[in-house]
Amino acid sequence: MNKWIYNFGAGLNEGNKTLFNLLGNKGANLSAMAAIGIPVPPGFTITTEACNYFFDNQLSLPGDLTEQIEASLALMEDKLSLKFGSDKSPLLVSIRSGASVSMPGMMDTILNLGLNDETVVALARNTKNERFAYDCYRRFIQMYSQIVLGLSHYDFEDLMDLKKQDHNIVKDSDLSLEHLKELIEEYKLLIKKNSEVGFPQDVKEQLILAIKSVFSSWNNQRARKYRRIHNYADDLGTAVNIQAMVFGNMDDNSATGVAFTRDPSTGENYIFGEYLLNAQGEDVVAGIRTPQVISSQATSNHGVDLPALELYMKDAYSELTRYFKQLEKYYKDMQDVEFTIEQGKVWILQTRSGKRSAKASIKIAVDMVREGLIDERTALLNINADSIEKILHPTIDHEKKYEVLTKGLPAAPGAATGKICFSSDITEQKSGKEKIILVRHETSPEDIHGMNAAEGILTSKGGMTSHAAVVARGMGKSCVCGASEVVINYQDKTILIGKKKLNEGDVITINGSTGEVILGEVMMVLPELTEDYLQVMSWANKYKKLSVRANAETPLDAKIAKDFGAEGIGLCRTEHMFFNIDRINVVREMILCEDTIPRQKALDELLDMQTKDFVEIFTIMQTLPVNIRLLDPPLHEFLVSGEKEIALLADKLRISPAKVKARIEHLKEQNPMLGHRGCRLGISFPEIYEMQAKAIFKAMKEVYINRGIIPTIEIMIPFIITDKEFTLTKKMIENVAKKIISEEKFNFQIGTMIELPRACIIADQIAKHADFFSFGTNDLTQTTLGLSRDDAASFMGNYINKGIISIDPFLEIDRQGVGELVKIAIERGRKTKPNLKIGICGEHGGNPNSINFFSTVGLDYVSCSPYRVPIAIIAAAQAAIRK
Ligand code: PEP
Ligand code: MG
Repeated sequence: MNKWIYNFGAGLNEGNKTLFNLLGNKGANLSAMAAIGIPVPPGFTITTEACNYFFDNQLSLPGDLTEQIEASLALMEDKLSLKFGSDKSPLLVSIRSGASVSMPGMMDTILNLGLNDETVVALARNTKNERFAYDCYRRFIQMYSQIVLGLSHYDFEDLMDLKKQDHNIVKDSDLSLEHLKELIEEYKLLIKKNSEVGFPQDVKEQLILAIKSVFSSWNNQRARKYRRIHNYADDLGTAVNIQAMVFGNMDDNSATGVAFTRDPSTGENYIFGEYLLNAQGEDVVAGIRTPQVISSQATSNHGVDLPALELYMKDAYSELTRYFKQLEKYYKDMQDVEFTIEQGKVWILQTRSGKRSAKASIKIAVDMVREGLIDERTALLNINADSIEKILHPTIDHEKKYEVLTKGLPAAPGAATGKICFSSDITEQKSGKEKIILVRHETSPEDIHGMNAAEGILTSKGGMTSHAAVVARGMGKSCVCGASEVVINYQDKTILIGKKKLNEGDVITINGSTGEVILGEVMMVLPELTEDYLQVMSWANKYKKLSVRANAETPLDAKIAKDFGAEGIGLCRTEHMFFNIDRINVVREMILCEDTIPRQKALDELLDMQTKDFVEIFTIMQTLPVNIRLLDPPLHEFLVSGEKEIALLADKLRISPAKVKARIEHLKEQNPMLGHRGCRLGISFPEIYEMQAKAIFKAMKEVYINRGIIPTIEIMIPFIITDKEFTLTKKMIENVAKKIISEEKFNFQIGTMIELPRACIIADQIAKHADFFSFGTNDLTQTTLGLSRDDAASFMGNYINKGIISIDPFLEIDRQGVGELVKIAIERGRKTKPNLKIGICGEHGGNPNSINFFSTVGLDYVSCSPYRVPIAIIAAAQAAIRK
């Protein structure tokens, strides 16, 4: 016989806090609490396995479940001296969902189950409180009808409102016993009219149907949506908790409430929460009455003037405080607790780790270490690394109201407000005078000046590794990508979101941390790097094993990255250094000139520019490693499109527009991502790579002569698929080096990106010649999965919705596919060269789950955009601690 049920609180505590996959968080914690002596109403948990059985077997329950339910009910009956369905001393139960991941409010709960026309009479008699008994019955019929019979909540509310109107009553609690009895009959009639099944008087039938409904609620629309948003798998299933009822609605010495053991917004150490006198749980959620705060400190902090529980029920408050302390000590984390007080007696109904703001998570971690509750390792594990980014950028003040128009991908965090502008040139012209949000279908290298001048970027296409996303993250700009509901009309200079039409110049706000596109301006809160933050970072640096570098290509990026604790630059995309409007024209000259003399002139100009940039970056980074990648994208990306632009460029270069057009046509490719790019360019146009190598070596020499710095330089060759490409390019670079830096003291290495499947497979051959590897997981994901990084966003959501894949592979490394190739490349590379330095510089380098993977496969470093450096440091520490 399979074990479908785990009992708690009635003599047996069969679960424990580690069984959350099987019992859900709620079930596992109920058993754990009962075991440590916290007062938990007795009950039992039906496992998530039973839920999966239910969905795998045409919504039917396992055959042997009923027998196990009977046995568990008997345990509860014994403990409480009550009987389920008895007309003398009836046992009433609550039925609550509870998955292994927190999904607040997404699934169903039923209270007071076990009431019928007979048991309600017994309840009234035993409690000597008829009104209370019939109020429970009314509530139960309403909840049951809504959840199990699928009737509309509003129909019941309408009947109740009518009753109040008829008798001139405002509050539900003023309905008399007679009113409640009448309402119950009216409810029954409503059910008869609208449901074929009807309301069962048989309490066992009530229970079985309620269990089935709670299982079914795992797949209701809002739960499915919630799982999509939070990347939770569909097959986790929910457990069902059946627990003896305790009543917060028995009298004025009873209450129900929810509390955090510390303030979840600020992290301050006082009980933060709300309670309602003489009420049941759903009254708090329904917002019918204004709840009162729990601790007096909250009264002053939140300007609430109703009496706090601390004053109103002194004994219950101090009992609660004791349990909260005990729970924090046991779980080693701040808790979010549901409780009920029945005639002065405190019962704890649920505990879970409390959701908190990034600011609070830092403060709580540091405070708990100071209080001796946890050690530094646990403190680090309690922090949600991803959330840290929120305290590094201005964020939306969630206390203020705002209207969300649509949601795209949260491509680069922070929030930004500005006027809609569709052109990068206009954005640049207006910058300094106005705040602009650049709105484009997608961005290209030509938009870099507009992106730089804008407060934030909104695109209707493109994914998390599209140009806009990567560049914005690097710049520390807020960006929302792939907002497919935003219909852009460049001609009319309008955007349409649903029925809402906005014009150029209208103000919007984008929240790059959530993907929200918001109408108008909203209040922002600025980041503050507190002592607590610095403390957490110093712990993280102490425990992490992986080095953390940054992807940076401007002196400003390099400075930000270093200030955030980067231990070097893991990727300097040199093409980004050309995107400034003055420079891009020189690049265009270089590409378009057919004669060698003017072409060499353009190359010389670029050489000076790049040398200057490198000097600045090397000076900032001092002796920390700087990894410079030679030019990667296909040349046509630097050229213009459109008649007007072509004519302007032709004029500037003093050649005919026809010639410019012909050259553009010649360079154009059907599949540029798989075309003439990376080292293929350097092999076809060696003068470009030579110029770049020259710039690097000249800059090395200059910072040494002028500033006494000997930089640590890594030159990286992109898009390698054969060792020949590598040796050829390496030789060329070494030849340039010989001419500029012959002295021994100059230290540089030449390595390669591993970003194509073939490079992974022949890593042993490449490693013979390469000093280091750096995984370009953006291209490696694109080429392994055959998914275009710029186009996949259009159907990725649908794939995730249908459960075909669980998470965007450009966001979190695809362990089964790309991850295996990474492992092969590491194993083969290190077989040839045991000490081969290996890093990763794709966008996954800033993703905590991916960092955990990279840590387990033995990488030396991860590299991510400057603003993600602190997240990567914490994630690297967590990975090391978990190991
Ligand atoms: C990559 O492919 O992962 C990478 C870092 O290079 P890019 O994004 O510039 O193609
Ligand atoms: Mg790449």
